[in-house]
Amino acid sequence: MKKPLPNMRYKQLSMIKKLAILLLVVIALFVSVGTLLQTKLEQTQSILNDLTSNTLPAMINANQSAIKSNELLSALESLMSSNTPVERRIADVEVQKKLKETQEQANKVSYSQNELRLLNTIQEEMIDLNFFIDTKLDLADQITKKQNELSRLKSNADYAFQVNIGHTDLDKKQKTAWKIAYLEVITLAYTIEDTHRLNDLQELQRLIEQQLSNIELITEKLPPSLNKRLAPLNAAIRDLLSGEKGLLSSQERYIRISGRTRGRENFIQNLISDYNKVANQFSLNENQKLKTKMMALTNGMYTQETWFVFGFVLLAAMISLILALYSQVINRLSNLTKRIHNMTAAPILNQSSNDEIDELFQAFDQFSDTINKQNSLLETQSLTDSLTNIANRRAFDRRLAYELSNDRTIQADLSVVLIDVDFFKQYNDTYGHASGDDALQKIAMMLSHTVPNNNNLIARYGGEEFVVILPNKTMEEANTEANNIMNAIKLANIKHSQSSVSDRITISIGIATRTKGAITDTDTLMKKADIALYHSKAQGRNQASHINDIETDHS
Ligand code: GH3
Ligand code: MG
Ligand code: MG
Repeated sequence: MKKPLPNMRYKQLSMIKKLAILLLVVIALFVSVGTLLQTKLEQTQSILNDLTSNTLPAMINANQSAIKSNELLSALESLMSSNTPVERRIADVEVQKKLKETQEQANKVSYSQNELRLLNTIQEEMIDLNFFIDTKLDLADQITKKQNELSRLKSNADYAFQVNIGHTDLDKKQKTAWKIAYLEVITLAYTIEDTHRLNDLQELQRLIEQQLSNIELITEKLPPSLNKRLAPLNAAIRDLLSGEKGLLSSQERYIRISGRTRGRENFIQNLISDYNKVANQFSLNENQKLKTKMMALTNGMYTQETWFVFGFVLLAAMISLILALYSQVINRLSNLTKRIHNMTAAPILNQSSNDEIDELFQAFDQFSDTINKQNSLLETQSLTDSLTNIANRRAFDRRLAYELSNDRTIQADLSVVLIDVDFFKQYNDTYGHASGDDALQKIAMMLSHTVPNNNNLIARYGGEEFVVILPNKTMEEANTEANNIMNAIKLANIKHSQSSVSDRITISIGIATRTKGAITDTDTLMKKADIALYHSKAQGRNQASHINDIETDHS
């Protein structure tokens, strides 16, 4: 029963250690998982923040910018295809509006300086283009007017032809030739508007000039009246067609300005296309960035989910493990409690115990109570004589050693009274050992009753010898006490037929006193008491002697 205890205590400790380590591991794991989750959450948060405050707006701006540049391109196309000043103005307003919007949008996108410069160039070029378009439309207007003028001239020519001037057949023939030549010029002039190549126009001009000269030649040959009538028509058509302000010149300028407009338009179109490409590419890049970040976010969420699941599984596993270990500990605690119960033989525990540890504590309390009681019992037993129930030799030795210590010595005198039953061997022989024991018990009882209990110690010194320690008692007081003892034994009146000194049991006493301040030891003092006792025996027994008296006698 006693042996397994240390082993078990070791096991309990190791279990507590295991639990503590496990708890530490669990805490460390949870802190790690928690920190990891926290970090992941923060990462997700920062990705989300970045998405909402940077990536998404950047992407939207880039997309908007691309859309605006596309709109600008279509607006430019409308402008290029506008045929009337009104159309052109409307288209121009639209282009300017879109250009402004594109520029505003571009400022929200982190384009390089090149793109911004491109937009500025587009704006500058637009001014030139507008000028060209204005000029072109202006020319077109002039050309249209001059074309209308052609119809009027034709009508005039028709009218002049029908007027009955010219009498001869020759005249008539010449007049018809003029008419044909005139109509031919007008017909040629009608094609001016549709001639869009400078080479063709030059050829046309040559033909028209030829034809005009031809008309003039014909007119010169006509009779003066007819000549007079037709010459202004010739001059009018020449005026309308050739010269600085003529239709041919206007058409030539129109072709040139159209070419320049087209060139400028193409240039601007290319600029816008370039910008458009960059804007679209930028938008694509931003979309790609968003996609990548969204993927990172999704992955982050997935990782978090995994860690959450892992954390929960870990928690569940740890809780199960702790519960398992806990129940094991509880089992061991219960077993330990039972064992302690068995050791203390304590029947029922206090009902107020809360748990197994309480029970164990209570069991330990009872156990330690029992041990303490047993210890004090053992202590008492070890210091008590089992036959007489008074102090034994061990108690006496201990007490005398204490009383002889320096501290006590300086306080007062001390006497020891050594008592020996006379002729006790004969008593035993006569009445038997058991009666001897009874007699010893009676003597012990008498001693206890006689010697006052305070501070004094009555002990069985061994066999049929007793001893009394009288602290604070001088020699005289000790002698008086010894006489009291002798009287008491006499009063006990224990029959002893074989004693040589009396028919009752008698005792002999030897006394020794250590005077206050005198240093001595147990052996020396007891030797003196023994000498005094021997003296009493030698002097005929049934008497008390003090060593000082004997020494005085001897001296
Ligand atoms: P004296 O007068 O010289 O003292 O003679 P005595 O017979 O008393 O002395 P002795 O030393 O010769 O004998 C002591 C006896 O005490 C011997 C022994 O049998 C007896 N005795 C010692 N212890 C016990 C005990 O515990 N019980 C009993 N019944 N007798 C004991
Ligand atoms: Mg003796
Ligand atoms: Mg004796």
